[in-house]
Amino acid sequence: MTDLQFVIKQIEDIAPKAVDISRKIWEYAELPYEEVQSADLLIRALKEEGFEVETGLAGMPTAFSASFTVGTGKPVIGLLGEYDALDALSQKAACPEREPLREGAPGHGCGHNLLGAGSFAAAVAVKEYLVKNNKDGKVIYFGCPAEEGAGSKQFMAREGVFNDVDFVYTWHPADRNEVSAKGNVAIMGAAFTFKGIASHAGGSPHLGRSALDAAELMSVGTNYLREHMIDKARIHYAYSDAGGVSPNVVQSYAKVKYEVRAPRVDQMKELFARVVNVARGAALMTETETDYEITMAFSDYVPNKILAQLASVCFEEIGPTAWDEKDQELAASFLAHYNKSTLSSIRQDMVKEFGKNSDSTMWKSPLDTKVRPFDPRDSDYDSGSTDVGDVGYAVPTLNVNVATACFGTVWHSWQTTAQMNSSLGEKGMLTAAKVLALSCIRTAENPEIIQQAKEEWMEKTGGIYTCPLPQDVTPPIGRY
Ligand SMILES: [Zn+2]
Repeated sequence: MTDLQFVIKQIEDIAPKAVDISRKIWEYAELPYEEVQSADLLIRALKEEGFEVETGLAGMPTAFSASFTVGTGKPVIGLLGEYDALDALSQKAACPEREPLREGAPGHGCGHNLLGAGSFAAAVAVKEYLVKNNKDGKVIYFGCPAEEGAGSKQFMAREGVFNDVDFVYTWHPADRNEVSAKGNVAIMGAAFTFKGIASHAGGSPHLGRSALDAAELMSVGTNYLREHMIDKARIHYAYSDAGGVSPNVVQSYAKVKYEVRAPRVDQMKELFARVVNVARGAALMTETETDYEITMAFSDYVPNKILAQLASVCFEEIGPTAWDEKDQELAASFLAHYNKSTLSSIRQDMVKEFGKNSDSTMWKSPLDTKVRPFDPRDSDYDSGSTDVGDVGYAVPTLNVNVATACFGTVWHSWQTTAQMNSSLGEKGMLTAAKVLALSCIRTAENPEIIQQAKEEWMEKTGGIYTCPLPQDVTPPIGRY
């Protein structure tokens, strides 16, 4: 039996359990740091498979590791699992009409139910391979909460959780199959407060100092800053406290949340420092006081090229998911609910990916039937951010995207929630599990690949993980 045949059989054996876990986590739909039932379900399943579990990693009750050792326990193979949901995206399973399962409740609009369960299946298959072939190694499943919140992996990396790991593979549910060369940008979030002096806005405005004015001037200042920053950088903001609802009071307090993104973590930190200066300038102009608290930060994610090349070959050998007609019909029914401009953008994407005549066939059969191999020339940054970036700064890491939804699906939407508990999501998840397991096995059996992946990582990081968060920033459990 080849390693490919072994992996396919193992994943098919564990499939009913993995599907059951993914459906249950989808139903729990727990928000960041509150994934108690989801983490517990995965922990119990991993224990049943003989994994040793450590809970409460880096001070987070729903973060855990589950490891299985054979022989010397070297090399150490890491897999990442996520299981948090998103607010207000509840939707009936496989339902292409807007119908919340529970009105206003959270839903799995990013497919992390599949992510957690798919990586679980891969971890079990890799463990079985080591045992049945009597190979040395240790496989660790890292249970990572709150990817949609303030993250968890950077806190885990800061505590040295990934220190002895040789390489890490993970995946993400997507609308296409690819080992992408694109990275994700770094991000830092902070809450800025302004304190002024309250006063009667009509009777004694000269005695008041407005914190709200300061917050507004900070917006003006950052808007001027936008012209003088690199193209890929972004600055977002939201008022979380405008001081009050009475226009006849000079507002003495205001709080604004900012998020700053840039391709590399060093560029992000530099831009964030400029935003802090803008806040100081706003306070100076208004004679108020300002302070800020950093609430979250992720490093940029850059795929490890050595791991990417290997995983790309594995993905092509496994091949795309074998969809049937019913899957294609279900997928097509989701397209009907997008507005004109979204549909036109999906159509453009289809033409780009599948050629000029694609839309007639792709419109009826919009599930991806290709695997896009890794192409290092295609490297760039996607504008989103993920705490997988921090794992990549701690250890050679690779993410694989696997189609679990209709091509063009807008992520973080009810359409995604619906597809993540359907034949589309579940079949895609099993493909992902096969790709991850085969990639782990082939990397573990090839010391030269591990060495080259480490050299690439050393070049990027100097071999030291530096957390983008100040040491005193702890996981914001219950306050994010
Ligand atoms: Zn996600």
